[in-house]
Amino acid sequence: MGGKGIRITRKRQAILDVLKNTDEHLTAENIYFILKRKNVKVGLATIYRTLDLFYQNGIVNKINIGDGTIRYEYVDKKSVHHHHLVCIKCGKVMEYTDEKEPAFLEELAARIKKNYGFSVLSHEIYLYGICKECNEGE
Ligand SMILES: [Zn+2]
Ligand SMILES: [Zn+2]
Ligand SMILES: [Zn+2]
Repeated sequence: MGGKGIRITRKRQAILDVLKNTDEHLTAENIYFILKRKNVKVGLATIYRTLDLFYQNGIVNKINIGDGTIRYEYVDKKSVHHHHLVCIKCGKVMEYTDEKEPAFLEELAARIKKNYGFSVLSHEIYLYGICKECNEGE
């Protein structure tokens, strides 16, 4: 998986570098403005197409928090399994890991299999709330 048969052009590399060098979850527009500030000329349509290509090749993840905008993150093979916390006040998307999650989800999957005959293969979790900074600002 990852990058098989996809040609990494200079523009594609520039887009990939933006995602590799951040902990944030960026939209296509975010990437467009970051590249623009670095004087790298890549059109928004190219960025959309490239991100889609990256996604299909397992190079990036799509983060969909339901606000109508897709955010992207680089798939780091070394990074730990994580999910996302979404602040409904400032729109920040943070990552979290929880050591008890695997056991919890195994139990949940077993119950779902039993009650619905459905085999869970993967999952995505988004928790919505108020971040620390926004909480402190009150
Ligand atoms: Zn998980
Ligand atoms: Zn916040
Ligand atoms: Zn993430």
